[in-house]
Amino acid sequence: MGASTTTGSTAPREVVTRFAPSPTGFLHIGGARTALFNWLYARHHGGRYLLRIEDTDRARSTQPAIEAIIDGLKWLELDWDGEVVFQFARAARHAEVAQQMVASGHAYRCYATAAELEAMRAEQKAKGLPLRYDGRWRDRVPGPEQEGEPFVVRLRAEREGATTIVDQVQGSVTVQNVELDDMVLLRSDGTPTYMLAVVVDDHDMGVTHVIRGDDHLNNAFRQLGIIRAMGWPEPTYAHIPLIHGADGAKLSKRHGALGVDAYRDELGFLPEAVDNYLLRLGWGHGDAEIIGREQAIEWFDLADVGRSPSRFDIKKLENLNGHYLREADDARLAGLIGARLGVSDDSNAVDLLRRAMPVAKVRAKTINELADGLGFLFRTRPIDMDEGAAKLLDDSARQLLARARDVLDDIGEWSAEALEAAVRQVAEEHSIGLGKVAQPLRAALTGRTTSPGIFDVLALLGREESLARLSDQLA
Ligand code: GLU
Repeated sequence: MGASTTTGSTAPREVVTRFAPSPTGFLHIGGARTALFNWLYARHHGGRYLLRIEDTDRARSTQPAIEAIIDGLKWLELDWDGEVVFQFARAARHAEVAQQMVASGHAYRCYATAAELEAMRAEQKAKGLPLRYDGRWRDRVPGPEQEGEPFVVRLRAEREGATTIVDQVQGSVTVQNVELDDMVLLRSDGTPTYMLAVVVDDHDMGVTHVIRGDDHLNNAFRQLGIIRAMGWPEPTYAHIPLIHGADGAKLSKRHGALGVDAYRDELGFLPEAVDNYLLRLGWGHGDAEIIGREQAIEWFDLADVGRSPSRFDIKKLENLNGHYLREADDARLAGLIGARLGVSDDSNAVDLLRRAMPVAKVRAKTINELADGLGFLFRTRPIDMDEGAAKLLDDSARQLLARARDVLDDIGEWSAEALEAAVRQVAEEHSIGLGKVAQPLRAALTGRTTSPGIFDVLALLGREESLARLSDQLA
């Protein structure tokens, strides 16, 4: 029996976390949550949170993806400490560590050719053995025939015993060392593998806590092999369960696993709502649902991260977003909606939106809904009618409209009270409910069947525009 080794004890050092995305695609919702948890953990403990772009896969890493990640993190207000670290730029340092490991005997050169390894695997397969490197160069001294031949550098992994990680989320997890083969650290072209690069960067950046998706748990055991060979301090690990869709399957595009930018641009969410939602995906504090930034920093800790996958629920996100819309500053919302409606250069239009916001935001769940609901303010006459509105405006509705226009025309001051009194007067004259007058008015003034309250619509459009829109429908 070999020695059993355990890691996971928390040493009293300054907390340093990091988010280490690979820029091979947009910043997806799972990545954003990993970033948030790292950010909150560092802020809660008064530590530092770093950003490392893992751009070593040259074929798949792209500049637009790097920009999308940085943009997304800024939008979510997950600011990192210090400069962004780019992994590829550190390749020489990674190679240097591999050479150090060769020198100390913790790694060795393997000259096995691709064909040889292929044959090795075929044989293992035929015998029903697990496919793994058999260590054929582990104890072999290269001879003159290896002179100038390509080689890779492999870790001389511990073969005896077992490794246990006391993960802050997964608990104690043990792997038999025999299952971890002598993995490649440096490829034959001298470039580092992902495993080596991550470990060296985490060490050099002083990372104390590695918080990431649980799809990396297996890697942690291999990474520990390198860390121990180098005699470096071991980080505390926290592998958080992945996010699943509402149907329980791993979140995919089919479930709306979009880039964070789509939550902003296409779906119209506010960053604080997305942050709050992501926080609750896999972490909880009693039954608190609405948790602002400061509160989150105060409460967040790894002990409250659940072990089972959380389910992405867009309805919950929408409800949270509705809450944050109502809390949001009207001028800020007017700016966002002005941009959507293409009127942000027009200060009168933006001001009108700001004045409309208190009534408009009461019901809306997204920026899109708000923009949709306020688009009527900027339509040019004669405004287009949607199907429902057009249908509403039959002959009897038009008679009502004609009377309403006349009564409204007589109003002295275009005030909320006067508008209400005028519409009431028309309703009473025809012995019908207020709603019966409001409906055709709404259709004529907004071209839609839903809108903010009719008195608000009249007030926001103003006398001239309101009367002109009514006249358009009577012409
Ligand atoms: N670059 C890896 C990824 O995007 C993360 C590596 C890590 O967190 O250790 O999945």
